[in-house]
Amino acid sequence: MPELPEVQHAADSLGVQIVGARIACVERLDWPRMVETPSPDEFIRLLAGRRVHGWGRRAKWILLDLDSGWTLALHLRMSGSLTVHPADAEPDKHTHLVIRLEDGRRIFFHDTRKFGRARLLDAAGLAALDAAHGDEPLSEAFTIERLANLLRNRKRAIKPLLLDQSVIAGIGNIYADEALWRARIHPLRPAADLNADEVAALHESIRMVLQQALANGGSTLRDYRNSYGARGTNQDHFNAYDREGQPCSRCGATIVKTVVAQRGTHYCPECQTIP
Ligand SMILES: [Zn+2]
Repeated sequence: MPELPEVQHAADSLGVQIVGARIACVERLDWPRMVETPSPDEFIRLLAGRRVHGWGRRAKWILLDLDSGWTLALHLRMSGSLTVHPADAEPDKHTHLVIRLEDGRRIFFHDTRKFGRARLLDAAGLAALDAAHGDEPLSEAFTIERLANLLRNRKRAIKPLLLDQSVIAGIGNIYADEALWRARIHPLRPAADLNADEVAALHESIRMVLQQALANGGSTLRDYRNSYGARGTNQDHFNAYDREGQPCSRCGATIVKTVVAQRGTHYCPECQTIP
């Protein structure tokens, strides 16, 4: 699933191509459950004629700022991608949403697994989406002290806490495993048990693994593409995630894979121990 770095690249590569353009119409919506709000009919009606003023990202949502106070929020979930095409491009059967721009170009929301979602939000809807998510880990407000406060009194294991979008937004399975490896913290450690040095190490690690992934265009495991259709290369730089059975690049021990809170979890049994 795309996480913060992939969603940022998807948003930037889409936004830069379509900012200033006006939406002519929704040309295809053959999987109405993709639209969470408003109703699919209203979604189609309200999008027609909207101009794209800007773009952004909140948590794992791509946000397109439209005129008249609307925001089109798009979530790629497991296998979604958003790409921009010339007028004569043919969408395949997995392209469930096609938005035509007035200049003739079309935006394809391609999604083989159909978990991707779209919302057309007014200001109150956008505020609610914002309020449902926790700290942005690359923001200036996300300090070591802030992370310490977020972990305080939490008995939950640190790995599922990092995945909780209402606490810290944008981290998924890849970057949780990578950050914990880098900080030498076992994924099952209770969050509140981390000492001050470990919290500082985790803070630095979260930001480092996200920034490295941003610099590498995100990670492409299977489906992820940016809005030019390009793959990321960060998957070539994993230290823990997807490296079961391979040697730890720090100590040489074998990376193991286990299940934590129903998610496959990779860690080094030598570098990341439970005291
Ligand atoms: Zn190790």
